Amino acid sequence: MALTKTSFMRGMQCPKMLWLDKHHPELQVIPPHVQERLDEGNDFGDKAMEMFGPYEEMTVYRKGTTIPDTKAMIERTADAISRQVNVICEAAFSNYNNYCAADILKRTDSGYDLYEVKNVPTVAEQHIKDAGFQYYIIYRCGVKIGKIYIVTHGQDESNPFVPVEVTREAKGYYKWINDHIWNLNRRQKEAEEIQVEVGEQCANPYECWYYGYCHKEQQESQEQDKL
Ligand code: SF4
Repeated sequence: MALTKTSFMRGMQCPKMLWLDKHHPELQVIPPHVQERLDEGNDFGDKAMEMFGPYEEMTVYRKGTTIPDTKAMIERTADAISRQVNVICEAAFSNYNNYCAADILKRTDSGYDLYEVKNVPTVAEQHIKDAGFQYYIIYRCGVKIGKIYIVTHGQDESNPFVPVEVTREAKGYYKWINDHIWNLNRRQKEAEEIQVEVGEQCANPYECWYYGYCHKEQQESQEQDKL
């Protein structure tokens, strides 16, 4: 696989992070509060699948594992679209090996509306970029996307799913993604570790899981310089 939404965004935050994900993921240290937030987000996403009533979920796991079988998911999605299924969850697409799995596609008269589910009270720019990436891949697979929504976590816990429309903003990221996706694909395959100075990107927009590794490296090189 080339890039996913997550790897693209991680590469845009720092190309070294993308490289380490591919070559040395064992160096990741995920802080417990981040892991907790990721788990909560997964639960919220699972519940959101029912927000439009009956749905078909495209998730397929490799036999005996919890690793998604992306090829089988893409095939299942193509079949669901050909059957004009009304609500498709975890709809998977691939374009030149770049891959996405959209949280929810809801059929319309002319194609599908796209819903990205985020367990957050308000929409941030990063969420719109995420939706833009999904749109980029799906559009290039020839599926027509009408409106795009971020589903936020509202205050009414009996019905917490609040869609916020971001169609214009998310589609507006198409060129930005196209301008970077091919270079990031190339960079993640480089043989040598990408060298990037530690800096603001280590905590913005997300705290980097290689923070300890890179900052220790930098500290060691500063100590070497003093000798
Ligand atoms: S700690 Fe900083 S320099 Fe190192 S991979 Fe993460 S963002 Fe990049």
